[in-house]
Amino acid sequence: MRQVEGREWWLWAFAVIITLVLTFGILSLTFPRFHLPTDGLYDLSLQEWVRALAALVLLFDIYTVYQHLQLQRIRRQLAERDQIFQLITENAADMIAVVDNGGRRVYTSPAYEKLLGYTAQELAETSSLEQIHPDDRSRVLKAAESAKLTGTGERLEYRFRHKDGSWREIESSASAIRGTDGQIEGLVIVNRDITDRKLAEEKLAHHAFYDGLTNLPNRTLFLDRLQRAIAVSRRHKEFKFAVLFIDIDDFRVINDSLGHTSGDALLVRIAERIASGLRDADSLSRPRKDSKGKEGPPLDSTLARPGGDEFVVLVEELHDPSDAARVADRIQRRLATPFEVRNQEIVLTASIGIAFSSPESNNASDMIRDAEIAMYRAKHAGKGGCEVFDDGMQSVAVKRLRLESDLRKALELDEFQVYYQPIISLRDGHIVSFEALSRWRRPDRVVMPADFIEVADQIGLILNINSKLYEEACRQTGVWQGMFPSNPPLSISMNIAPKQFAQPDLAEQVGRILAKTGIEPSCVDLEITETIAMADAERSAKILSELKALGVRLSIDDFGTGFSSLSRLQGFPVDTLKIDRAFISKMENDPETAAIVKAIITLAHNLGLSVVAEGIDRPQQVELLTQMGCELAQGFLFSKPVDVATAEKILASDRDVDLPKAKAAANND
Ligand code: C2E
Ligand code: MG
Ligand code: MG
Repeated sequence: MRQVEGREWWLWAFAVIITLVLTFGILSLTFPRFHLPTDGLYDLSLQEWVRALAALVLLFDIYTVYQHLQLQRIRRQLAERDQIFQLITENAADMIAVVDNGGRRVYTSPAYEKLLGYTAQELAETSSLEQIHPDDRSRVLKAAESAKLTGTGERLEYRFRHKDGSWREIESSASAIRGTDGQIEGLVIVNRDITDRKLAEEKLAHHAFYDGLTNLPNRTLFLDRLQRAIAVSRRHKEFKFAVLFIDIDDFRVINDSLGHTSGDALLVRIAERIASGLRDADSLSRPRKDSKGKEGPPLDSTLARPGGDEFVVLVEELHDPSDAARVADRIQRRLATPFEVRNQEIVLTASIGIAFSSPESNNASDMIRDAEIAMYRAKHAGKGGCEVFDDGMQSVAVKRLRLESDLRKALELDEFQVYYQPIISLRDGHIVSFEALSRWRRPDRVVMPADFIEVADQIGLILNINSKLYEEACRQTGVWQGMFPSNPPLSISMNIAPKQFAQPDLAEQVGRILAKTGIEPSCVDLEITETIAMADAERSAKILSELKALGVRLSIDDFGTGFSSLSRLQGFPVDTLKIDRAFISKMENDPETAAIVKAIITLAHNLGLSVVAEGIDRPQQVELLTQMGCELAQGFLFSKPVDVATAEKILASDRDVDLPKAKAAANND
């Protein structure tokens, strides 16, 4: 605008001068002394002079009008720009201010009032620093100085007092305003209220380091604290600490029966109890005397929840290893008081593993892992216990980890193979079915189920292993039924692992395999051990009924090892009892066991169940069992579990069929 004004001033000054000059020129023509005799070239008449000057005046006027129109256009454009600028600043969500060199706000946009409560008048009357948090003022001043030096200031965050007295977080950037002479005349400041964004960021940061349920530090934060403790112990050899790994025993069962909402609420209360146990443990271990006999500071501890029903505690500045054991004891006693959930009393125990710092400890995750290994040892030894980690546990844990990873690879490499063990009818000595059993064929040896099934179950791999096995065994049985027709047809027994039994859609999965392989469901017998069936009788009854609805047969495996009475089995839709090997091997020499076996067989028959005797390896056992009325038997006496080719040969001789002919006949079908 100033440029326009300058130009206009020059234009008018120029016009005045030219007008004066021309007027003087015209007037001077009337002076008599101008009529001097001249040479031919300049000998112009008065009339010609007047014409020439009038033409000049006309030209000049045209030029002036043109310039004037130009200036008007520029002025209009500037006014439009002004209007746009005003529209933007007045409507912008950001707060825009113009501050002069004296630090006064000469303009503030209406957003100030909307966001911070101050009117433009109030802001104009105060210094631009007044509402800024005293701790942030020097930073703001510095940014303003640098904006004046460089033209644009850095983006800056500071606190601004709202009119209601609360502090708001502001993000701000400043740009310098220069005059025509290039001098800085002030700053345009654009401010944004980022309070909500900051809060959200803080929440996110909190979420990254704290557990949402209990608000305790999570694993990440715990690892950080632990790593710091490790660093301190490196510098100060006398600084000792321990990690406690706490796992609530059978929490899954509680969670399943109470529902997840109550389970979560219970976890929060467990966390509170543990925390209170830690506070008590501090006072409990006092007075702790240091080497000079003075009372030591209380134990410093961090409680965290890495996930699920697990908690970890870092106990720092241990004086004596017994300090940590006392903390563990205190926590266990705190948890022993029953919890009341939905008018039910719930008694909890926790297994605790402790890992102490050592000069070799340098990795926080390793220390937590050691404490966890010790916790598993404690759990194994009986619930509610406490164990301290030692190196022996480490080698067991390493072996276990190796086994897990080998098992995963084995599944990929298809190293699991189905073996078949015949089940014989004691009435006619013929094979009525096979039990399908897994073998793990490693390059150097065959691994028996006892050495891998439990681990495969714990890590969930059994689901894949068994679904493959089911499919293969059903398919193979179909082939054999074609090769060796019999009445009733050959059937197949398959074991259900605990993890499978925990699948809500087990029946659907089995149904799919039956449909895929085309086997008659009544020729399939699924075995579930007594222990799994009895763990949650109500649920078992439901799952077993679903399976039964598919038309398959069901057996209780290893019967007699689960301390359940036969009457409890009545609620289950099972067809067969398999008496555990332990009874069969003892019964010849132990009349009491023989009496039990006899009772089981009689009671089972009364319940309408058939009985299989497992683990028969002597003819005398067959004799005894036949006398007792047992109809089916399985054991090394008849055959060990064998591979498919051997099983086929055994079946051919049992059915008294020529194997090549049977094969050819089956192929022609
Ligand atoms: P189980 O279901 O009770 O299977 C019978 C086990 O007793 C088999 O051991 C069999 O070899 C063994 N056995 C049979 N007769 C005799 C005998 O006369 N003397 C002796 N000493 N043992 C005999 P195996 O194959 O080692 O399987 C052990 C257990 O592993 C099985 O017990 C079953 O619970 C489980 N298992 C095996 N394969 C699988 C599988 O594919 N899936 C699942 N879920 N479990 C399996
Ligand atoms: Mg079995
Ligand atoms: Mg068995």
